[in-house]
Amino acid sequence: MTELTPHKILQKFFGYDTFREHQQEIIDQLLTGLDAFVLMPTGSGKSLCYQIPSMIRGGVGVVISPLIALMHDQVMGLRENGVQADYLNSSLPPDEAGRVEARVRAAETDILYMAPERLLTGRGQRLLSDIDIALFAIDEAHCVSQWGHDFRPEYLKIAEVTRCYPGVPRIALTATADEVTRKEIVDKLELVSARSFISSFDRPNICYRVLLKDNGKRQLLQFIREDHPGETGIVYCRSRKRVEEIAAGLNREGINAVAYHAGLPSAERMAGQQRFAREEALVVVATIAFGLGIDRPDVRFVAHFDVPMSMEAYYQETGRAGRDGEAAEAWMLYSLGDVIAARQMLMRSEGNDTFKFVQQRKLDALLGYCETTACRRQVLLRYFGEEREESCGNCGTCKDGGSSAWDGTVAAQKALSAVFRTGQRFGAQYLINVLLGKEDERMRRFGHHRIKTFGVGQELSAKQWRSVLRQLIALGFLTVEMDRRAGFVLTEKSRPVLRGETVVYLREDPAPKRRPHKRQTVEIADIPAAGLWEQLRALRRDIALSLEVPAYVIFHDKTLKEMAFERPVTREALLRITGVGEKKADRYGDQFLETIQQWECQAD
Ligand code: ADP
Ligand code: ZN
Repeated sequence: MTELTPHKILQKFFGYDTFREHQQEIIDQLLTGLDAFVLMPTGSGKSLCYQIPSMIRGGVGVVISPLIALMHDQVMGLRENGVQADYLNSSLPPDEAGRVEARVRAAETDILYMAPERLLTGRGQRLLSDIDIALFAIDEAHCVSQWGHDFRPEYLKIAEVTRCYPGVPRIALTATADEVTRKEIVDKLELVSARSFISSFDRPNICYRVLLKDNGKRQLLQFIREDHPGETGIVYCRSRKRVEEIAAGLNREGINAVAYHAGLPSAERMAGQQRFAREEALVVVATIAFGLGIDRPDVRFVAHFDVPMSMEAYYQETGRAGRDGEAAEAWMLYSLGDVIAARQMLMRSEGNDTFKFVQQRKLDALLGYCETTACRRQVLLRYFGEEREESCGNCGTCKDGGSSAWDGTVAAQKALSAVFRTGQRFGAQYLINVLLGKEDERMRRFGHHRIKTFGVGQELSAKQWRSVLRQLIALGFLTVEMDRRAGFVLTEKSRPVLRGETVVYLREDPAPKRRPHKRQTVEIADIPAAGLWEQLRALRRDIALSLEVPAYVIFHDKTLKEMAFERPVTREALLRITGVGEKKADRYGDQFLETIQQWECQAD
């Protein structure tokens, strides 16, 4: 327990000057002994909201988190800042767990991270009943939702535990936004009287781009080489096979990449996570199995080689980029093949009709986002219930120019009629041949060279027809049938189009060639002392290696850049750099000041 005010702690321990939106209010809420429900996007600074009150209130702040792989680094990071923190999870050997429990009982710890399964054991409960508890923080609170993909059954039992401590304030935190999940959290964690704190979901430092897949692997390689050389990123793919192929391909091209998916032996998965936590320039190629628990602040890009299944998934996955607030990019490829594959995957998935209907709607929203001709951020935020008047200036549409829309009603009617008249069982290539009037043996066998639609679509090229079909699927005017070899079938929305009652706007696909684009924030090249930045990084790497912690636990990139820019020479000046608190200034200050001084001498 400390006598310091929240703001003093922010400066002294964490090295930051000002609170971000809501942080101060949430902290005050807990200090008053009241409950809070916090919905803020990834990277917005949720952790401080329970860490600071845990330090101020008497007793131990108990943080329940499913992210076992992360606890060690989180606790190390806190200790580096001079905060007394510990964790208990299944990765600790019994004697070490015993030592942690002793420290907790002796009130030598301010913050205790606990895996939910630990909390529920008799031993865990006994520990809690023996100590003073400052607060309960339930992190990743959406794990309580049975509909979500991160569901943890233990989370359903948390309320039974906290009920035993009626005077202890509770805070539930999540970055998962949809209404149903929100309700479930409040309900299952018994937080009806908690005050809600909900932030804007905007992540202004992330630039959102969506491109048509043309030669995907080459596009990806070019993207990493030209826009993100030597940087850390994640590439998401739909299948395990694709993950392995792409990781191997990147490595062949000299890009440091590692594959990650649930089918790998657990030792290999662990090694992959470890490398991701430690290595400076690493590309992780992964299925969605890689996700929960990625806390690395300096992920510079998240690339989707295949489209995700919902806006929520897309938002969560892209949200792993740029948690340090520096410029980052969310980049996605999509194609007709992708759209079909996603629809099929859904239909094949388990679950009842209601479930599939909901998932279908979610996929529709994502595909609509892909096809939009408007500012991507506007569309994204609208989905999460935020209206934006102005276009953002930091998305593919705003920066590279949007694609124009055209009245595709007649084209849509022709395509839908081709689908209908061929019996709703053929795929794209066949339909395009019908529209273009290209007859072959198979078509003659079916007699489709004699239908009314044969050859009516010669005003468009085969490529343009692919684009039309893709958009009709994305917009829900067509769907794919599973049991008939993935043939296209009409939907309820098709009929009004065929009857001429609906106007269909389609977008002009932009030419696949890429425009060079410049990034917008301060770049290393803009720092007069780029050589110094390299030296500071090298020093950080040495310290991190000797302490066996990730480099960002010592200092974030942002902090080092600011150091290279400001070149402080005294401890006071060093303390003014964002991210330098007293403890870190004590421990590493001299080494960093010395490096800066040496560099100044060489530069003269
Ligand atoms: P979340 O849990 O919401 O995803 P974190 O708590 O991990 O986010 O915080 C993200 C980053 O923002 C961390 O590097 C953290 O140190 C930093 N941060 C948090 N609050 C502030 C603040 N008030 N000023 C500057 N940086 C902050
Ligand atoms: Zn925009």
